[in-house]
Parts: sequence; structure tokens; C-alpha cells
Amino acid sequence: MVNELDEQSAGPLRIGRWRSHETSDGPATCDGAIARESTLIESTLRQKRWMPSRRIFLNRSDPGTRFLPVAAQTVSCGAAAQPESAPLEHVTFRDDMKTERLVAGRVLTEATDGGLLVQGPDGRLWTVEKEQLVTRETTDEKFTPLSAEALGRQLATELGSDCEIVVTKHYVICSHAGKPYAQWCGALFERLYSAFHDYWKQRGVKQRGIKLREPEFPLIALVFANEKQFAEFASRDAGPDVASAKGYYSIGTNRIALYDLTASGQEPARNVAEISRRLAAAPFNIATVVHEATHQIAFNSGMHTRYADNPLWLSEGMAMYFETPDLTSRSGWKTVGAVNDLRLKQFQTYLARRPADALVTLLQSDARFTDSNQAGEAYAEAWALSYFLIKTRKEAYIEYLNRIAEKPTLIWNQPQERLADFRAAFGEDLQQLDAEFVKFMRRLK
Ligand SMILES: [Zn+2]
Repeated sequence: MVNELDEQSAGPLRIGRWRSHETSDGPATCDGAIARESTLIESTLRQKRWMPSRRIFLNRSDPGTRFLPVAAQTVSCGAAAQPESAPLEHVTFRDDMKTERLVAGRVLTEATDGGLLVQGPDGRLWTVEKEQLVTRETTDEKFTPLSAEALGRQLATELGSDCEIVVTKHYVICSHAGKPYAQWCGALFERLYSAFHDYWKQRGVKQRGIKLREPEFPLIALVFANEKQFAEFASRDAGPDVASAKGYYSIGTNRIALYDLTASGQEPARNVAEISRRLAAAPFNIATVVHEATHQIAFNSGMHTRYADNPLWLSEGMAMYFETPDLTSRSGWKTVGAVNDLRLKQFQTYLARRPADALVTLLQSDARFTDSNQAGEAYAEAWALSYFLIKTRKEAYIEYLNRIAEKPTLIWNQPQERLADFRAAFGEDLQQLDAEFVKFMRRLK
């Protein structure tokens, strides 16, 4: 999910509330086909200054991307290995460029057509179609995730020795922007991480079946020195359309990538005070980073499952629910669930011409998020719906979250299944719910 906020829209930010009159957003998805579409849409969106973009996407270079979305019936999953006790396997396959790759990891899912979902020790997911598979060997060893230190060494090898590694409790940050900025990011991410877990724990998710957990793999953040360096990497890693974003989260690699937002032609900031001073001038850019970091946390806490059917309104709605930056706190994060003025204004404007079936179309598929003409409204509506449901139907929302969290990997739901899931949690009468939703949002200020 890319999150990009328009620098020109940046103005002073009241804590917990957007002030800008402009906004933007873009699609996010776990679905390979949709991911590719959204990549194209992103470039359209960028031309519209009113619309920053946010997306989850698979890596383009991910060889299995095309096998994921389409045919649930041909990839119906076999029994997934128990992740904790899975053996280490050596899977060799040919990627799209016909280059042979070896992944030493665990097989998470074996499709009935012979396709595999393989996870490396850094947490990266690889999809391997049957015809791409060269060899698969099971070893006597147990699969073990890389430690933060080992991961740091791996990242330094991949991204160059000038990348400084900063390790925090949950993150490994590989920074080309110097240590102070990486440390600042680490502190921000850790605060967000705690806020996310605390917020949902306090709302009783555990009692309703969601077991929020610590991430199995250290969370990776790549911090580039400037926009140019980021754009070069993002183009290679995720496709050229991501290059103009302020950051993104890749479901495939499980990494977030961002750059030093304080740089802009200056020397890197030397300390936290200087970073804060510079960022105060462009708080919207930081919201992008917060949005992406929220996706990463949600996909690593058991709230969402990577490569499962996560409706975009839900995953994007959640990221937007957390995205308002809280740059002033030292420990807490006071802006979770604050009214997002930007989204609210967009949604209220949309209400004048919102079609009668808007709720259904938002719920039943991700199509509106991947249509450049509708994506901005879809994002605003996803925020509004999430806000409404969390504030007025917390128990049902958590029940729904749990239902989605338990979705199997590599199975993509049909519109009627998505609607059935929603109705099972929130009731059969969508018209009635929609009327209450609209009434609630009209009154919100
Ligand atoms: Zn997003």
C-alpha cells in the first residue's frame, strides 16, 4: 500500500484532525491482478493533485503474482504446514525472467494444482506455480526466522554497506539517511505498534477470538536518503508507478520502504529536534508513512493474513483510522480514531451523488478502489464506514475482523461471499444499516 500525501496540501496540522482541503488515496490489495491494475491507476491518480495514494501490493518481480488472484478453484489450498513446526525446505524455481532461484524456507500452502506458497526466513512470501517449480527438497532442519541481527546483515548485503542498521524491539531499519532519522522512525513505529496493539486489546479483541501476536519476523523498514534514491529502488522493487509515492508496504516482501522526508536538498538532520522541526512543516507526508506502517503491523499481528482475501475497505479503513500522525507524544499515540477531516470532507461531498448501492459495491469487491475515477471516494467511504462501525458497532466489527483474519491463503472470495461475511456480523438488512451510516456521517463534524 502506497501512501502518498500531497506536499502542496500540507498545512498546519491540528492534533488528531486534518486541516487540508485536499486529499488523495489509492488502492491497496493483496490480489496480484488487482495489484497490477492499481499500479496503473496510481499513475493516473498522481495527476490529480487532490488525491494521495495508498496501496498494498505484491512485488511486481514476485514470480507468483499472476497465479494468485484468478482461480480459487485451481489453487484451492491443501493443508498448510504448521508454521511453528514446519521443516526447512529448499525450493528451486524459475521466475518470470526464467532465472533459477533457490528459496530455503517453509512451504505455507500447497495448492491442489501443485503451486506453492513459500516463505523465506526473512518473512518474504514467494508464490511458485507448478510449471515454475524445479525441485523441492525437505531437510531435517526446522524452519527458523532470521534474528534481527542476521536480518540486518542480510539487508546490508542487499542494499549496500553504506546502509546503517538500526534495530529496535520490533523493527530492523536499514537506513541510507543516517542514524538519527532511522532512530526517529524506529521510535515512531514502536509507538504506533504499541498504540495499535493497545487499542484493539482494550476493545476486547481477544475475548472475541482475535489473538493479536508479536510479529514472527522482525519488521523491516528501508529508509532511503532522498526521493530520488527511493524512486530508483521503488521502481525496481514494486514498479515505476510507486516511484512518486512517499512510501509503501509490500505484502510480498513484508517491508515498508520510505525516504528521509526532511532531506529535500539539505544535509541529513543531525538530531531528533531538527527532524521534528523539519517535519512539522509537512505533517501530511508523515501520515503516509504512518499509514504504511499500520498496514505492516496489521499484517504481522494476526489482524490480517498476507495472501488471504482481505477486503480493501477493511484494510484501508483500518490504516486510515490510524494514519493521523501524533508527532508530539513521547509514548502514546493520541490520535487513533480521530476524525479524519480530509476523508470526512471528501465523503460528505460524495454523499450528494452517492448511488443507492454504494455500500454493496464497496463491500462486495475491490473494484471501486482500482478504478481511478472512483478510488478517492472509495477510500473516503472506507474510512467513513470503518469509523462508523468501530464507533457504533464495536462488537460486530471485531467479530467481522475475526472472520476475515481466519480466511485461508490463496482463496479469493466472490462478491456474494464478501456480502455474506458482512451480513453475518452486522445483520441482514444492509439498507437499514446504510441509512444509519449516512445519517451518522452527515452529522459528524
Ligand atoms: Zn493503504
